[in-house]
Amino acid sequence: MRLQCDMEISNRALPSHNLKSSGRCSRGYLSIGQNPGSTNKQRTVYIMLCTAKDKTGTKYVVKDNVEKVFCNFISEGKTTIRFKEPQVDLHISKADSIQLKSFLTVLKASLKGECPQQKSNLSTLSAITPKQIENSKKKLTILKRQDYPILKGFPFSLVSLKIIGCHIKKLDSRIPSLKYLQHLDLADNVLQELPEAFSRILLTDLILKGNQFSNFPQILLEPPLCDNLTVLDLSSNQLQRLPSHIDNLRKLQILKVSRNQLKQLPINIGNLSSLKNLDISNNQLPLLPANFIKLCLHELDLSHNSFSTTPHRILRQCLELPSLQSICVKFIINNKIPYCETMYRDLHELIRSHKRCWCGKVVVAKFIHCIYHASISFMVASLLSTSEKTFPLEAYFCSQKCFDRFTQKQFQSPLVT
Ligand SMILES: [Zn+2]
Repeated sequence: MRLQCDMEISNRALPSHNLKSSGRCSRGYLSIGQNPGSTNKQRTVYIMLCTAKDKTGTKYVVKDNVEKVFCNFISEGKTTIRFKEPQVDLHISKADSIQLKSFLTVLKASLKGECPQQKSNLSTLSAITPKQIENSKKKLTILKRQDYPILKGFPFSLVSLKIIGCHIKKLDSRIPSLKYLQHLDLADNVLQELPEAFSRILLTDLILKGNQFSNFPQILLEPPLCDNLTVLDLSSNQLQRLPSHIDNLRKLQILKVSRNQLKQLPINIGNLSSLKNLDISNNQLPLLPANFIKLCLHELDLSHNSFSTTPHRILRQCLELPSLQSICVKFIINNKIPYCETMYRDLHELIRSHKRCWCGKVVVAKFIHCIYHASISFMVASLLSTSEKTFPLEAYFCSQKCFDRFTQKQFQSPLVT
């Protein structure tokens, strides 16, 4: 029986000599079986590890030599086999959980002494072939169209895939099936959209810079993808807006949307609590939402935008007839009424994107809309910008009282109406 997985060997004797294991994890094949040409009398069963660097393999005797098998995470494709001699632990991860279970069943049978019904599951141990090495590849970079694996497909075990500058118009339908893929770089192609199956890939890094997206790919906001993504680069596309629910990307640490055509930012951008690095340079932003200052960043680039130089002023003082929906939203939020997201999906969307006063209340029907300039240096360690010292922020207030309190706190003087 042969299993494809990530393997790491740690030597238990090293810490007693104050040494550490290399901690290197390699993708390869793990087999359980006998040497070729073994007779019935020579029934030594081995576990053999083969990787690209060790094609002929390293063998460990099974019988009376396995001290323990740690089985708590088999369903996640992980286990550890502890050998007595040599004193090593074999850490297995990223294996198919069903295959891993079968592998451990064969191991268990071999430990007890060979069972005839398991004999067919024992491999004849042999070195791995170049094709198997190719299939256990973790990284693949394609920079020319002629190198694209049209017929042979992608190695199943890929963790990182780069297809750069290959004039790709449509995502290859085989890519969402790569279950170990974490880093996908599709820079400098001509993609305009992503397929629905894309949300299945558990990516942490996605590079889509230099493509032709005129709309933000909504599929990136769907689970499970949105729960994993930490790096998103959509620079040099044709985006005119970012989605109001960009805060679905709750683990996002790096967001690059420079060189697009953004004219405004969603209110919820301030809710990206994991964000550390934001590049929105070279867009057409006149204002930043007041919520923006909730971010806490290491690096921010706001250069080359069209920030308004209008002084502090009230833009609107509104008193209008509210819609039934806004009354509903206001009532739910202000009274903290629990609601079911799946039952009232539209309402949920509205609640999340509704304008709010700095006091937290929803702004409906009667509100004050104003623009003020403020320094944002307190929220960022490194501001990569031009000469601007302050930036125009757009704020909404639920009442005159809230507005007065805010302006007194912020400016110690009234704003121009
Ligand atoms: Zn208020």
